[in-house]
Formats: sequence, structure tokens, C-alpha cells
Amino acid sequence: MSVIKVPEADIAGWTCATCGTELVLAPVELEYLDSLFNVELPRCPSCGFVYIPEGLALGKMHQVEQLLEDK
Ligand SMILES: [Zn+2]
Repeated sequence: MSVIKVPEADIAGWTCATCGTELVLAPVELEYLDSLFNVELPRCPSCGFVYIPEGLALGKMHQVEQLLEDK
């Protein structure tokens, strides 16, 4: 399974809102339309908090739909 990258997810200098640890990009499993996807998202290595960029739900999910249609 390929990892979907989020080019607009520039996490330089971002810190976790919960514990203040710097976020790192990590593949996170998302379930969408009954399929599992690995999407690279900013994630806190300390507490596991995943930041989902606001545009992701709309924009990236649209990209996922296109991936499904291409099958
Ligand atoms: Zn954290």
C-alpha cells in the first residue's frame, strides 16, 4: 500500500498541543470509503496525537476518491 503524502503539511516548528513535543511526519492509517489508506500526517512521537490539516478532510479525501476510481 502506498503512502499518501500531504504536500501542504509543512510541520516545521509545529509542536503537539497536548505535550509540546515537536511533531514528526508519520504514516497514519485512515479508513475511508471502507478502505484503509496510509496517509503521512504530522504526529506527536510522544503521546501519539495526530494533527489532521483542515484541508485534508475535503481536499485529500477527494484525492483518495480519485485513487479509488483509478483502480
Ligand atoms: Zn504529544
